[in-house]
Parts: sequence; structure tokens; C-alpha cells
Amino acid sequence: MNANSIVSIEDLKVNLLTTRGVVCAVRGVSFEIGKGEIHGLVGESGCGKTMTAKSILRLHDEKRTLYGGKILLRESGGAVENVFDLRKEQLQKVRGKEVAMIFQDPMVSLNPLLTIGDQIGEMLRFHTDLSPKEIEAKTLELLETVGIRPAGERSRQYPFEFSGGMAQRIMIAMALSCNPQLLIADESTTALDVTTQAQILDLMKSLQKSIGMSILLITHNFGVVAEICDRASVMYAGKIVETSTVRELFDAPRHPYTQSLIRSIPKSGCAGQRLVTIPGAPPSLLEPIHGCAFAPRCRYAAQRCRTQEPPMCTAGEGHEYACYLPNAGEEADHV
Ligand code: SF4
Repeated sequence: MNANSIVSIEDLKVNLLTTRGVVCAVRGVSFEIGKGEIHGLVGESGCGKTMTAKSILRLHDEKRTLYGGKILLRESGGAVENVFDLRKEQLQKVRGKEVAMIFQDPMVSLNPLLTIGDQIGEMLRFHTDLSPKEIEAKTLELLETVGIRPAGERSRQYPFEFSGGMAQRIMIAMALSCNPQLLIADESTTALDVTTQAQILDLMKSLQKSIGMSILLITHNFGVVAEICDRASVMYAGKIVETSTVRELFDAPRHPYTQSLIRSIPKSGCAGQRLVTIPGAPPSLLEPIHGCAFAPRCRYAAQRCRTQEPPMCTAGEGHEYACYLPNAGEEADHV
């Protein structure tokens, strides 16, 4: 683990035991998130993004999940712990305090029977020694920070009295209440209209700058990645296929899947033209995958792609991709 990293995920595997068999949802994922970094995890639905993120907090049903690998977390005191070695009580202290998570639909995450002031206060009661008066003052301060005003009046209201964008601001306030080292935002703007989405992204970016926490942003939207992230990892069929700075990912993507995703972003000024799509569908994670998982959809696929899994190659500092093509996009010898 690098000295500057908050989280280091090393060869993470998540196998889900289902009635239809074992789903290999995450098949050996490795990446690090630096202090103060916004890291995007991007890919199609079902590629393992949420599975990876939830593993950081061990949120899967542990009776039906087999984990492999390590997730090293640097706690606020500086100690580094493997999340998989933590006992239940230790894990409860990490959840919300060291690592907080916000989800796609805030209305499902909020308790409809409690005022939002009570819900934010609950986090502070659990993780801090603050007195009731201090908790009330901190709750109002958090609501002000995320732009919910007048904070005193709004803190006594119930979730149904807020719009989707406002409810997501409340979730952010709850997540920030204990100054976490890492905020995981799982498709946190997907359910919002574009204007509210832009406001929430701006809010997250400015809070990240002022507080200095790291963010793991899960999305299938490359526009969101371009808007807010410093680095990004592209996932396909339970694996990371490319990771780099966002700038390099857009300027010089190496993996054919990343290139296809970027090509499929709708462009302005192309009214009436056909949208670019990626033919085919991701493989079933219930079946063993031989070779490169993207081969059935890849126009550069060669024989060895179908039998041997490509290793991670380096394309520059901090830029890695898993493909046999030295310069994907150009016709290569092996095709
Ligand atoms: Fe395509 Fe082969 Fe690269 Fe996989 S390894 S992305 S099939 S060229």
C-alpha cells in the first residue's frame, strides 16, 4: 500500500452463493485510492462496481458470500487494517466513521418515520461523545453545509417533505457527519434530473476540496467521470480492464472496451445520426470465463484472446490496461 493511499484493494474476489450456482461477481480487482483523490469506477450494469464498493464495508450477506484478497484501509489514527480481519464491533466503528456510503435512491435510504434531524443526529450519537446540545448544533451546521436552509426548520421535517435532490443532500450531510476518510457514492446522481445532478456533483466536489476526504464514485456515466474524477478504473465482467488519470483515459484510451464506451457517448450536433453501441452483451458470471472476457464483443479479438487471459500492461505512469494489443485501436500483428 502506498504511503499516500487511504484504501488499497488487492486481488479482491467476491463469490456469491446463489440457488443457481456460484456467481463470480468480482474476479481479482486491484486498485488504490489516494488521500484527497476522487476515483471513478465505471462500467456497464452488472460488471461488479457496486460489489467491489460494498466489499470495502463488508455489506454483503456474509452467509452467502465468499471473499478473497485484501482490502487495506488506513484509519484516521494512521493504523492500516485489512477489512476482512475486522471483528463485527470493529467493523461497526469503520462504517460511517472511517468510510461512509451514499446510494442511488435517497428516499429508500432515509427512514420515513424519523425527522431528518433525528437521522443525522443518530450517526453522531453512535460515533461521537457529543452532548445532545452539541449534536443539535452539529446537525444544523451540516444541513447549512449542504445547502438545506433554514436548517432549524428543515431539521424537524420528514423525508417526504424533500425533493430527490434535497434528499440526496441530506444523505451527503449524514455521510459527512463523522468526517470520514472515504466517501463511497454509488450512482448517487443517477436518479436525479440533469440540473440537480450537476448541483450535487458540484457540492460533492467542493466538499471534497474543503474537507480533503477521498471519494470512490461509482457510475456508468462517463460524463460524470469527466466532470469530477481525478482517476478512473473501467470494469468489465468483474475485473478492471483499464485504470489511469481521467485526462489520459479520455485522450488515449488503450483497452478496446474503454474505447467503445467513449465512442458510445452521445455527442452534441449529431442529431439524426445513429448512436454508437457495443454489440453483444457481457458474459454470464455464473459460467467460467476463459481468456479475455471481452473477446466475443471485441473487433480485434484473436485466437489467444479466447484462451489466455491478457495480463495488465503499463502504458505510462499510473496507466494500466489488460489487453494483448500494444496500441489498441491500430491494426495489430496478432489480429
Ligand atoms: Fe480484444 Fe484481445 Fe484485447 Fe481482449 S485481449 S480486448 S479480445 S484485443
